[in-house]
Amino acid sequence: PDQHPVFRRVLLKASGEALMGEQKFGIDVSVADRIAADISEARSMGVEVAVVIGGGNIFRGVAVASAGGDRVTGDHMGMLATVINSLALRTSLMKMGIESVVLSAIAMPEICESFSQRQATAYMDQGKVVIFAGGTGNPFFTTDSAAALRAAEIGADALFKGTQVDGVYSADPKKDPTAKRYERITHAEVLQHDLAIMDTAAIALARENDIPIIVYSIHEQGGFGEILRGGGRCTIVSD
Ligand code: UDP
Repeated sequence: PDQHPVFRRVLLKASGEALMGEQKFGIDVSVADRIAADISEARSMGVEVAVVIGGGNIFRGVAVASAGGDRVTGDHMGMLATVINSLALRTSLMKMGIESVVLSAIAMPEICESFSQRQATAYMDQGKVVIFAGGTGNPFFTTDSAAALRAAEIGADALFKGTQVDGVYSADPKKDPTAKRYERITHAEVLQHDLAIMDTAAIALARENDIPIIVYSIHEQGGFGEILRGGGRCTIVSD
């Protein structure tokens, strides 16, 4: 296997869709439990883990907009969906005896703490898993951008983007059998060829802050740990 850098602190981005598992909607608890197990393995290796979860399994703002509604309201609904997912992951971590804390970009003190960079890094220094909820807290953004932003804020060594496939391809491998899989690619190449692994804002932010993006399959049990150990199947996006 490739020699990967040793990661001390990483941010894991999982989409809401991943949490859905085989279901058509909502949260498959067994998937949340499995992601928690991956996080547990990383922690047992001494890696500090923060998480950003999407909300697409419950709600996306564009759905409201395309039905003639207000985009900003739709995005608020989407951000609330990420809070629901974050609470589900916290529950799965708790069941495994892992201390975690949900920090929301939108204040909802009865439910979870509010995000601040200082509090987030303090919790990480204490060895807690920090789950960033509410995306960036702003409409017209995505949780991919939130992941790149939070990764920069906490000084993460890498942004792990868990996807439905095992890396970055030249085309959608589920539609095009000739699609080529990359082992390594630069942020600039991803942007230039418009390879849809994360939105442009997220990739640009990661690039500006020298954060490598590791694209891997979230459905591969133990895949996260294997990559952290220097093996596994993934594409490394770095300059
Ligand atoms: N969202 C937002 N601002 C953010 C993050 C998310 O408005 O900073 C809203 C947006 O409507 C988005 C929804 O929350 O569609 C769910 O997030 P996302 O689509 O990124 O989830 P994923 O595709 O990862 O499941």
